[in-house]
Amino acid sequence: MHAKPAINAAFNSGTVSFIVELECSGCGEKYSHDEIHTFCPACQSPLLVRYDLEAVHKHVDRDAVRWRQGRMWRWHELLPVKDPGNFVFLGEGDTPLLHLPRLGKEFGYPYLFVKDESSNPTGSFKARGLAAAVSKAKELGIKKVIIPTAGNAGGAMAAYAARAGIQALIYMPKDTQRSNIEESRIAGAEVVLVDGLISDAAGMAGEKARAEGWFDLSTFKEPYRTEGKKVMGYELAETFDWNLPDVIIYPTGGGTGLVGMWKAFAELEPLGWLSNTKKPRMVAVQADGCAPVIKAFETGATFCDFWTNAHTMASGLRVPKSFADVLILNDLRDSKGTAVAVSDAAIIEAQSQFGRMEGIFPAPEGAATLAALKILIQQGWVHPEERIVLFNTGLGLKYLDRLGQAT
Ligand SMILES: *Cc1c(COP(=O)(O)O)cnc(C)c1O
Ligand SMILES: [Zn+2]
Repeated sequence: MHAKPAINAAFNSGTVSFIVELECSGCGEKYSHDEIHTFCPACQSPLLVRYDLEAVHKHVDRDAVRWRQGRMWRWHELLPVKDPGNFVFLGEGDTPLLHLPRLGKEFGYPYLFVKDESSNPTGSFKARGLAAAVSKAKELGIKKVIIPTAGNAGGAMAAYAARAGIQALIYMPKDTQRSNIEESRIAGAEVVLVDGLISDAAGMAGEKARAEGWFDLSTFKEPYRTEGKKVMGYELAETFDWNLPDVIIYPTGGGTGLVGMWKAFAELEPLGWLSNTKKPRMVAVQADGCAPVIKAFETGATFCDFWTNAHTMASGLRVPKSFADVLILNDLRDSKGTAVAVSDAAIIEAQSQFGRMEGIFPAPEGAATLAALKILIQQGWVHPEERIVLFNTGLGLKYLDRLGQAT
């Protein structure tokens, strides 16, 4: 007898997913999850997935989820895929939450942690979102997917598409680090290098998608990537024994993780799984060479202006305008959070500090959260007794060709 992958063993009985519908984050219009949808055709806003939380409350035991196999897919009732046969699994999820005793001592902050996403497949947390999106694409019978990317999303999409037997086409800036180009090609994707930024790549990919019927997996232009990323919020809640941390510092490009985690916390509340309803203050970190969210947050705007001449070594943060800018700004304000820009020089310093003091080699985007923490400490915005979670969203080793180089 062949050993079945452990991931499928947990699904012998019961409802796999309590998905109900898709809801427009702008106008509230509802759409079916059994059809292929992108974003709201009526108001051009992202669609969010809604679940029957009452049924989840009734049928799912919070403490049983902890002992399941399947990492990200342990939370399948709260994920959009209905048939476990469609789970495209490479080991995503259940990343460690690491205490940072030496950095904490340096700053006088004993409850400092990092959620280290670098151990995800393809070396970044993009794996979570693309695992969910490609799995749902497979379930919906989609045969070819396209994505504009700053790098890691392309690599992740290529890997999950390969495993799903789906054709992949990727548009990325031609100065993207080599690791992203090669990991995509090795997974059989076609890579088009674009003379420009992710925003230029997005224009070209969108055109190609319309002309040839590729399904576009751009950030928030489909509803499911954020569902994978929201699981970071569930994992944090579980690891902190259902008593959420005080502050989450998150490197924000398209905002999938930030919006996803805030959505996760909102779902946990009616489930009654939280022992304390106090939610974290969310902090968006960007680079000062591309800080549309910080600018909009500080001026009280409800959406972001397109950031011209975007530049930073943290390529995942080189996003001149997110499609989900309204959601990002809403969630930051809802959470009583804030937004902080850091320089590439501060990122480089934080990267080596992470390595030197804690043995972690973070992606520049992850290092940016430490640089932001220093600013927040200086401003008195955080306090020594608070539990603070930094996010290292990727593996520093993927960025060797720009190590130590500010742009
Ligand atoms: C894409 C990316 C980000 C930004 O993530 P969003 O969820 O799009 O805001 C941060 N860090 C790394 C390493 C990334 O690849
Ligand atoms: Zn709408």
